[in-house]
Amino acid sequence: MSGSVLGILAAIFQISGYLFYIRNFLKRSIRPNAASYLMFAYGTSLVAFLAWQNGAVLPELLLLFACAAMSIIVALLCLRKNATEPVDRFEAIIFSADLWLTIGFAAMVFAQVEKSAYAAVFLILGNATTLTSFIPILRSTWRDPRREQPLPWIIWSLAYLCLTGATLLSTGFDQPVLLMYPIANVVLHGAMAFFSLRKTLAGRYFGDGGSFIYHDTSPIAGEGVFAGRAFAAGEKIWTMTGTVYGNSRTGQDPDFVGLGPGLWMDPDPPLNKLNHSCAPNACFGPKRQLFALRPIAKGEEITFDYSTSEVDPQWTMACECRAKGCRRGLHAIQISFADRDEPPPASPLMQLLWRTRRAEPITDSAFPQFGQTTRPAVTTSNEKPPARRSPEALRRSGAAPSRNRMGAR
Ligand SMILES: [Zn+2]
Repeated sequence: MSGSVLGILAAIFQISGYLFYIRNFLKRSIRPNAASYLMFAYGTSLVAFLAWQNGAVLPELLLLFACAAMSIIVALLCLRKNATEPVDRFEAIIFSADLWLTIGFAAMVFAQVEKSAYAAVFLILGNATTLTSFIPILRSTWRDPRREQPLPWIIWSLAYLCLTGATLLSTGFDQPVLLMYPIANVVLHGAMAFFSLRKTLAGRYFGDGGSFIYHDTSPIAGEGVFAGRAFAAGEKIWTMTGTVYGNSRTGQDPDFVGLGPGLWMDPDPPLNKLNHSCAPNACFGPKRQLFALRPIAKGEEITFDYSTSEVDPQWTMACECRAKGCRRGLHAIQISFADRDEPPPASPLMQLLWRTRRAEPITDSAFPQFGQTTRPAVTTSNEKPPARRSPEALRRSGAAPSRNRMGAR
């Protein structure tokens, strides 16, 4: 295979990698690091310009110009869409170091310093900027693998592998300096692919009979459970397993899910992160199975209405789910749905309890609210929800343990 064929192949890989990348960006499935992309934008533009000045072959130029143009596009998209994400101190230091290295490199080039005499300086400056520009994105992806998708980085690694081959075929080992740039890029792009794959390696994804769900940062509260694929309405998502607790107050915890009167479950992962929503897209059905109430798109947060599984009349929770029609103050099923003619989507046990309430008021002292036929005066929409108190704080204060779950499980 000749060098030019490899060069063209590299350019094709490079461009297709960017097409996938920009598609992911527009779908918001990635959150690129703005600092790195700013450095890529001017760094690759400089490299492309130098290659053009030095009469590089067309495929190599194609790759570098595609890379420069695409980096500028992503950098501009980052500036537009991630404007609120601040560049931290560490990134600012790396950024200024990269800027000075690039200025030094450019100064040497444009002052036409005798290259052979300063080969080592050229080598250090030219490749150090490749490394510095990658540091912020490597760091942010290591910290949060969900920020990137592995596919574009794998494709780009292949592009630079082809470029390494093309360089080797055209210059051989006579000029190892020229090999440094593609090899460094194979390593750095490969590292990015590996870092973004960590979310799978670390088991953040949960799979069960074709069902894929994962934990992610939730806009509702803390971490939530998200759909790894689309679910049809009525489709089973997951079966809840966990430890069942009776009415022993010692076992109560904000993560628990109500199963019935005086009965709770501490769910195993992944459902331990399932958030509440007043407009849920899932509910618990027979055998503690979580079902989709409506079609759920891939990447959408899976939620259920906590009130549909709680029967303890003392149970309350402040809600800031921001869903349309958010009830703000959550109460047990028989209070929350007292004015409904139809039972809310919930487990058969819950539906049975609800129907019992409708048929004959229960005056059991343990469940005084069962007897109520009208909706009791609960938190109204313009009232502030009760102050947040963690279960730990309640335990410390010696207050009667209320099952205030306050958001995330
Ligand atoms: Zn709500």
